[in-house]
Amino acid sequence: MSTTKNIFVLGGVASSLGKGIISASLAKLLQARGFSVTIQKLDPYINIDPGTLNPYEHGECYVTEDGAETDLDLGHYERFTNEPTSQANNITTGRVYQNVINKERRGDYLGKTVQVIPHITDEIKRSIKELGKTGKYDFVITEIGGTVGDIESLPYVEAVRQMRFENYQNVAVILLTYVPYLKAAGELKTKPTQHSVKTLQESGVQPDIIVCRTEYELSQNIRNKIALFCNVPPSSVIESIDLDTIYEVPLKMQEEKLDVEVLRKTRMPINAQPQMNVWKDFLYNIKHPTSTVSIALVGKYTELPDAYKSINESFIHAGAYHSVQVKIKLVQAENISVGEDLADVSGILVAPGFGERGIEGKIKAIEYARTQRIPFLGICLGMQMAVVEFARNVLKHEDAHSSEMNPNTHYPVIDLMENQKSVTNMGGTMRLGAYACQLEKDSKAYQAYGAVHISERHRHRYEFNNSFRREFETAGMKFTGINPDNDLVEIIEIPEHPWFVGVQFHPEYKSTVVSPAPLFLHFVKAAMEYDQKNT
Ligand code: GLN
Repeated sequence: MSTTKNIFVLGGVASSLGKGIISASLAKLLQARGFSVTIQKLDPYINIDPGTLNPYEHGECYVTEDGAETDLDLGHYERFTNEPTSQANNITTGRVYQNVINKERRGDYLGKTVQVIPHITDEIKRSIKELGKTGKYDFVITEIGGTVGDIESLPYVEAVRQMRFENYQNVAVILLTYVPYLKAAGELKTKPTQHSVKTLQESGVQPDIIVCRTEYELSQNIRNKIALFCNVPPSSVIESIDLDTIYEVPLKMQEEKLDVEVLRKTRMPINAQPQMNVWKDFLYNIKHPTSTVSIALVGKYTELPDAYKSINESFIHAGAYHSVQVKIKLVQAENISVGEDLADVSGILVAPGFGERGIEGKIKAIEYARTQRIPFLGICLGMQMAVVEFARNVLKHEDAHSSEMNPNTHYPVIDLMENQKSVTNMGGTMRLGAYACQLEKDSKAYQAYGAVHISERHRHRYEFNNSFRREFETAGMKFTGINPDNDLVEIIEIPEHPWFVGVQFHPEYKSTVVSPAPLFLHFVKAAMEYDQKNT
């Protein structure tokens, strides 16, 4: 195999310009040309990983197959490329320093003074090269969080400079900037872009390609101007105009020839066009739905849609499959009024979460879904609360709860398993990453997956308390998915309900454009059927 090419994606002018989507789109285009690609995110914050971050800070915490708690951009990477990522795909400054400090304590630096340059930068370079070393990839795309000029980004930019210097032909640098439109002047302005290129140049890095986020088309004049002032050929000035959906970005980048520029810069063969037919069909379905269906997402981070990113995207994938537009109604669990908030929806999803806030509202929403026979999907905490609701309202254990919320409950229907009871620290003993699950043939879950043996990703600490199994089954709640290694409940269903499924795992993490999550496909289908019957 040839040498792995390293592509860096940095951001200038402002944050939130969509480096993750540009990286994922480039990966998609290269992949559609037959290259193998992986994407990595380097985050300049000091947390070791985003596992302990409040979703209000950086949105959802995304979980990989190998159980890494990562930045939500990794979700975009997987949804676009359909390739799993891993721990090695997300590095933070915290982890970099931790590794360096561990080495220092072990004496690996042989008495030398340990410094940002070269020790921190070497550790960053090592993390970048690690993916390339596997020999599996033609391209490693490395997205660097933050904005050029930030103090905390400097060691990363220095690592890019060094890698470029050491291996010029195999490295390309993309800078994503913003070209604002000044209404009063009636003009697009290139100066912020010029300045962020200058800032990057001050650190010794000349971008090869400049991708410009803009609300208006860039004229050839503007492109030429950016090219001239920023020291790149005009063909390397790429327009990234605002689009209706992120799933349009790869096709737009193809039109703009971002992939061709990258191939040229890294001296790779430029063969036929990328094969994007499946993608185009998917996009067509998103843009031309034949009907709509309304689904409530009951959670506590409703002010910030990024907190439920993967769930939202899973609905888009499932909707495209059924040619239906899924309208998500974000319902704040804390002050829910079920009669009002849920009266007009055809499906109810109760979201994952930690802690007590909004718990009773979630239970009310579940009771409503169960008694009104509205299709229901409970994910992780949503499944756990479905168990609590059933225990309280069907089994009449009024005090039933999860011991996460009430450690003194007489009916801890959701509880810590033996090996977790000594837990004191956050994160340490969570069940994280992919675990096997065996499905009951006669179940909604089996209908969805069409297989007995499945595997899904987890992120939780509490479990269904097996000592209550028989009581629940007798009253009509079935355990249709079990982890075969530890006999843990993975899926609950109420067979006499049209579609009532709760899952301890997170099906949303594995939903991609080409492979939508089966449970979302079937949940949306059930909601469509409910909608037809009730209107
Ligand atoms: N807080 C619950 C637990 O730890 C559920 C977690 C989740 O919804 N991801 O088990």
